[in-house]
Parts: sequence; C-alpha cells; structure tokens
Amino acid sequence: MINPFSKLGISDDVVNAVKDLGFENPTPIQEQSIPVLLEGNNDFVGLAQTGTGKTAAFGLPLLELIDFKSNKPQALILCPTRELCLQITSDIKNFSKNISGANVVAVYGGANIMQQLREIRNGVQIVVATPGRMLDIIGRKAIDFSSVKFVVLDEADEMLNMGFQEDINDILSTTPDDKKTWLFSATMPPEVRRIAKNYMDSPVELTMGTKNTGNVNIEHEYYIVRARDKYAALKRIVDFNPEIFAVVFCKTKMDTQDVAEHLIKDGYNADALHGDLSQQQRDKVMQRFRDRNMQLLIATDVAARGIDVNNVTHVVNYSLPDEIESYTHRSGRTGRAGKTGISICIVNSKELGKIRQIERIIGKQFTKASLPTGFDVCEKQLFALVHKVHNVEVNEAQIEQYIPRIMDEFAELSKEEVIKRFASLEFNRFLEYYKNAPDLNSSADDRGERGERGERGERGPRGSDGYTRLFINLGSVDDFTRGDLLSFVCNNGKISGKSIGKIDLKGVYSFFEVEDATVDSLFNNFKGVEFNNRGVRIEKTADGDGGGRSRGGFGGGGGRREGGSYGGGRSGGGDRRSSGGGGRREGGSGGGGFRDFSGRSREDRGGNAGGRREGGAGSGDRRRRS
Ligand code: AMP
Repeated sequence: MINPFSKLGISDDVVNAVKDLGFENPTPIQEQSIPVLLEGNNDFVGLAQTGTGKTAAFGLPLLELIDFKSNKPQALILCPTRELCLQITSDIKNFSKNISGANVVAVYGGANIMQQLREIRNGVQIVVATPGRMLDIIGRKAIDFSSVKFVVLDEADEMLNMGFQEDINDILSTTPDDKKTWLFSATMPPEVRRIAKNYMDSPVELTMGTKNTGNVNIEHEYYIVRARDKYAALKRIVDFNPEIFAVVFCKTKMDTQDVAEHLIKDGYNADALHGDLSQQQRDKVMQRFRDRNMQLLIATDVAARGIDVNNVTHVVNYSLPDEIESYTHRSGRTGRAGKTGISICIVNSKELGKIRQIERIIGKQFTKASLPTGFDVCEKQLFALVHKVHNVEVNEAQIEQYIPRIMDEFAELSKEEVIKRFASLEFNRFLEYYKNAPDLNSSADDRGERGERGERGERGPRGSDGYTRLFINLGSVDDFTRGDLLSFVCNNGKISGKSIGKIDLKGVYSFFEVEDATVDSLFNNFKGVEFNNRGVRIEKTADGDGGGRSRGGFGGGGGRREGGSYGGGRSGGGDRRSSGGGGRREGGSGGGGFRDFSGRSREDRGGNAGGRREGGAGSGDRRRRS
C-alpha cells in the first residue's frame, strides 16, 4: 500500500522519518497544503490553528525543495517565540534525519549568540528564528540570505501582536525579491492581511475551518461567579476534574504569580509562567509542564505564546483577554493533534457581553455551566479514587509477604465492611474539607457570601512542635540551594540559623520552618526585601501544610503530584500518595447510598444534585450544565 505522504509527493527518506514519528496519515492542513507548496512557485497564506500539524505542512515541502548539497541558507522560518522556534527546529530535524547533509539552526534570543553564529558559519540550509535575534545576526553581517528561496512566517498574527512588524520588514528586505513567502496564521486581522498584500504576489489561500474559527475539537464553557469567588471557582473546577492538565490564563504577571502561589500553598501542583522570569526559569517551568510533573500552568498571554504541549485537557480563562482575538490562541492550547479539549471562562455577569463577542469571532456558542457543589466534588474525587484502586497494578512479589498479616488484620470484617472503611478513609476527609462549601454560582443565595472561607480554611499555621511553617516565593529556579536559602533567610530576617527548622526547597517557591518566637521579627525584617529586583514574600502556610487541599488530604492528579513533599510532612495533612485523583478519568460507577451534607440521600432529594446534574452519580459526565 502506498504511504499517504508518498501520495502527496513526499520522498521516501522523509516519509520514513515521519513514519518513525508515528504520523500515519496527513492531517487535513497537510493534505491540502503539501501539494500546493511542493510546486515551489507560489506565495501562500494558510489560515490554521496551532496544533493542526502546521509544522509538517510547510516543513515537509521545504525539505523537498531545498538543495542539501549546497550549504547556504535557502529557507528562513520566522516565528514569535523561543519555544516555538525550538519546537519547529526539533520537528524539522526529525523530518530530515535521513537526508544527508541537512542542517537546521535555531536562532533565538536569551541564548548564547556565539554558538548560533558558529552553527551558521558551519553551513545551514534552514534557519528557524525569532525576529529580534535574527535581526541582530543580520546586523553583524554574519549571515548571507542571498540564496533564500522560501520565507515562512509562522503564527504571523502573534508576531504582529508582539510588535515584530518592523523587524519582519527589515529581515525580509535582506532576502531576494523572487523568494516565495508562506504565511501561517490562526487569525486574519487587517495587519496580517496587509503583510500578505505587501509581501506576496497572488498568494494561494487555504483556510482550514472557517476564518478565525476555533478548533472544532474544543468545547467552550463559561461559569458566572462573583469577582471575589474566582479563585474558589478555579479550585472547584480543578477538584471536579481529577485528571485536569491545564493552562490557566491571567491578564497580568502579578495575577499569574498570585494565583500560582495561592494554588501552590493550597497543595496543588501548579507554577507560574510570565515575562518576569528569566529564560532559564521559563525553560524549567515549561519542562516540568511538558513532562507532566506539573498539573496547572498559570500563564500570561505573552509567556504562553507558542506553547505546544499535547494532551492539555483544559484551558482556563481566569480572566478574559483584553484582545478578544487572543481567545483563539488561548483556547488553541488544548484540543491539539485531533484530541478534544475544553476552554473555560470564569466570568462575572458584567462580562457576558465579551463572551458574546468571542462567540461571534469563533463562530461557536459557549455552554453556560454551573460550578459543581462541594458534594459533587467529593463524589467525583471518591470515584476517581475507586477507579484508581480498581486499576492499580499490584506488585505481587513485593506485597505477598505482607498479605497474611493484612488478612489477619481484616479477618473480622466482611468484604463490604472493608470496602466501606477504605472508601470512608478518603471520603470522610473530602466531606470534612467541603462540608461548608458555598454555592459559588453567581445566582446563588447568601450562603455564597461566605466566599472561599469554607474551602480555604482560616486555621492558623502550624509547623513542627514549636515551629511555624512559612512559604517564601524563592526556590531552586532562583539558583538557591537549601544552604543558600538558609543564609538568605537568616541574613535578611536577622535570625540565627538555629531558629530555622526543616527547609523544603521547591521550584519557584519553598517552605521553611522557623521557631514560633522569631516569626514576628522575621516578618518585620523581611519588609521590603528584594531578590533580583523581585519583592520577596513570606507567608504563613495554612495549617502548616501548604494548604487547603492537602488538609483535605486528597489530591487530584495522583502520580503527577509532586510526591507530597510539601504539605503533610511532620505537621499532618494526610498521606497524599494514598489519595485520589489518578487512574482513569471519572465516574462510571456507582451512585446511591452516599449522603449529602444535609444528611439526606440523593434519592431523597429527587435523584440528583439539585436537579442540575446530567447523569447519575459518577456517570462519567465531565461537567454539569445549567
Ligand atoms: P503542529 O501544529 O505542527 O505543532 O503539530 C501538532 C502536533 O501534531 C505535534 O505534536 C505533531 O507532532 C503532531 N502531528 C503533526 N502531523 C501529524 C500527523 N500527520 N499525524 C500525527 N500527528 C501529527
């Protein structure tokens, strides 16, 4: 059988390489654009979302059109961010791995320019670049673009949003007039149109889906909450989706940092990505997210540009973007490579107009969803745990030796009793955590006025005996070792090292214990302390364990969570390793028998949680709609 990529005109070497990557069939954009681009004599405009297979759509034809016997740059790919630059470079290297003499270089800011210059000097045919660094290298007369035959402008709308218009003009002016320009963009604002008009000659235009339309694999939802309940709503959404792997968008760097720090303190596996982080810090955060060592990436629009992580389940718009068009980019972080995804907006009632505007732009309607009740969350987490237990891989060899003792322990109990107790072990904690959880939906009655208190808890901090556990917004990404952190705290807090207890060094934050008696003076002395022009923040952790949810003792995401090293510890907080979240998605079993917070069974309440729930208990419905 002829390989479908061969049918499109791709040569065997490249077909074999994409086969190795697991590409069996071309994506729709590849199917449409590869034959056109292979002709090599057209300018081209492709309107396509991120995650649709764009890189191979232009990368594969380029490999067919370039003369790899020559070592001169023949293709220049411009893209908005370092992340995207590295991704495209890596993709093209993979596609060209069987072509002898193929050389691709990534040119981007924030990295050693000497190395990039060296690679260019050694000879390259394909240059993948962000505009600023490219211009720098052109300014040094370190590259000769006289043989460039193709220029690709990837995510053109993003490059313009980021103010690269001038740079692009300058770069293009150094390339030959007869080169062909291929432009890809998720949206087609007038500025992008203008580029097409100025730089292209009757381009072939292909639109994947309708113009400006979001990916068909993405569902769009909004939740209406009071402004002050936003954070609690976010937590509720996360708790209701134990397998969530999400990018949460905030408007400002400060919001991003703030939400991330709150989530971290509340025991979630989250981190912030924003422009104030150094490139190295951003790389570390992104790597953790890519490796799924982190469940929630809290980002600004600018920092999240070009993020292409597959299998993101949700995009959460913690605040709506100022530029409505940015919504398409945000939501495009999920639903990639044929997967489905959900884009959620947490809004207040005044922002409904903006939702309607977005609907017009993406050509799709949002679903108004209701935030799950505390009871719903408990139920969801419980069944996530049940599934996890059901599917856990038993290490027969290791466990065997303990079985007689375990059996002995349970000898008096029936199977039903054991199951009930095991389930209660977690469920009681969920109930405790959520028992006063208010209805956060904006139409809620006064109970909602209690806001987050019911969920976040107001209990005082508690570390080991005689110690208070504190959070600090510095960590290993700031190149701190535990020793460095110790001296930093002692020097700035003007306390002796003997007053410090356990130090838990994390990524962008850490926890440390300090003798109760020195807490107040430490706080006083830390007022105004900065590190690398960043305000240093120290706070008491709730209940001495880094947070609300840890206190509840359950953890969505199971294996993805950071090994329980924050929270718990010496000061309680429960064994996160044993708790819920992992395994399969959700629901699927169950129903009946559990009591809601009022003590009535769900059957007593008319068979569902307030009549809004779509399925029965744990029926696998991903969310509730009103
Ligand atoms: P892109 O839009 O180029 O960033 O691609 C999105 C994701 O889809 C990447 O992880 C690619 O590796 C993957 N991909 C691209 N083309 C195909 C294909 N034909 N079959 C399977 N996966 C693909």
